[in-house]
Amino acid sequence: MKIIKCKLKNDQQVLGVLKKNSKGMSAYDVLKELQKYKNIKPMTVYRSLKNLQKLGVVHKSNQSKSYFLCHSDAKEKHNPALAICKKCEKTEEINPSIFSKIFSNLKTKEKYDFSNFELEISTLCRRCI
Ligand SMILES: [Zn+2]
Ligand SMILES: [Zn+2]
Repeated sequence: MKIIKCKLKNDQQVLGVLKKNSKGMSAYDVLKELQKYKNIKPMTVYRSLKNLQKLGVVHKSNQSKSYFLCHSDAKEKHNPALAICKKCEKTEEINPSIFSKIFSNLKTKEKYDFSNFELEISTLCRRCI
């Protein structure tokens, strides 16, 4: 999902920084980049990243602790699925719909809401094999 304009100026600026870095950035990288031209506190950046994540325009990898701009053409917020290389941390967003199908057929002891999920697949990219 993509958006052109955020309600908050800080969110917009954080989004702008992420747009220039397709590789994904840590919150600290985003902070450093913004601090080049404005006085901004780490908490403000974290809050903006959270907002953007909630909106569905930014996804977070817990493995590489990085934030990525959503690359899907979906018009609405969707469950993120990311493939991440274990060696070089190269990340690609993959279509989550096939996983939605698998999860809807999954039998578990506990009840989970599988309509909501975040998926990270640790794998190796072609260069690192
Ligand atoms: Zn996405
Ligand atoms: Zn790799």
